[in-house]
Amino acid sequence: MKGCEGSKSVGAVDLQKVDRYRSLETRAKLYDLVRSLRTRGMSYGRIQETVSASLESPISKGSISQWVRGIHKPLGRVNEFNQTATVELAYVIGVVLSDGNVNSRKYDREVLLSVTDREYAEEFRRCLGRVVGGFSKVRRSEKRNRWIVQKRSILLYQFLRRPWSGFKPFIEHDTKCTCAFLRAFYDGEGSISGRSLTLYNTKLDILTYIRDLLGKLKIETTELRVGTRAGTELKDPLNGRIYTRNSDCFSLRIRAKNLPQFARDVGFTITRKQQKLEEALISAKKPMTHFAPSA
Ligand SMILES: [Zn+2]
Repeated sequence: MKGCEGSKSVGAVDLQKVDRYRSLETRAKLYDLVRSLRTRGMSYGRIQETVSASLESPISKGSISQWVRGIHKPLGRVNEFNQTATVELAYVIGVVLSDGNVNSRKYDREVLLSVTDREYAEEFRRCLGRVVGGFSKVRRSEKRNRWIVQKRSILLYQFLRRPWSGFKPFIEHDTKCTCAFLRAFYDGEGSISGRSLTLYNTKLDILTYIRDLLGKLKIETTELRVGTRAGTELKDPLNGRIYTRNSDCFSLRIRAKNLPQFARDVGFTITRKQQKLEEALISAKKPMTHFAPSA
């Protein structure tokens, strides 16, 4: 759970870096252009003219030939990114808006998840594989007591850096995508104790949105509440630095009567949370023991 810790480190991207990955995107478009011109039967020479004219600098016939034959891709080792609405992309979005991080380093743009539950990391890895392709694995850090998934992809990075409301079409694509998004978010920041299933986050607008999504699934919640965590100190388990929680924390609790709907439509990937949820459902079915005051 990270939502209330105020330690998300999405640094400012300097202009030089922006230009570097914008040029990559341009190259990706160029690649598509070359391939489609060739498919339409245009000669290498004509493709070279067309493409060079649309660019500031001329492009060699050699690279056009290599692109056409698929020997070299203009993005080199950069992973491709499939930006179609899928359940997997919805899960990735949910992770990134809760526990995940989108980082920019000197030469890398990466998505990172570092968590205590292995199956959560595994599910994120699986979904990344469907969205970006290529190979990634879940790594264990004994020192940090964490399962870690790291995926380098400039195109995914660019996509995920948009303001969160830009994800709505992908989240609301269909009920399955909505449920996958919610499951990811609850895996990250949902907390269950007894029959109390609560979501904590510092961003009021995101929680309000989640409340609406749950409402569409006929899962009712209590009103949003302001927590009292702002201003308290917190030690980052990864680097040992002390942070101050500098924003209010909001919480949203699912009405106990709607726990069965939540379990059926959303649920948890994380086993220990899912077990608690199932226990909550069982306890609801048991007859209540009433201790009536003696007359
Ligand atoms: Zn969908």
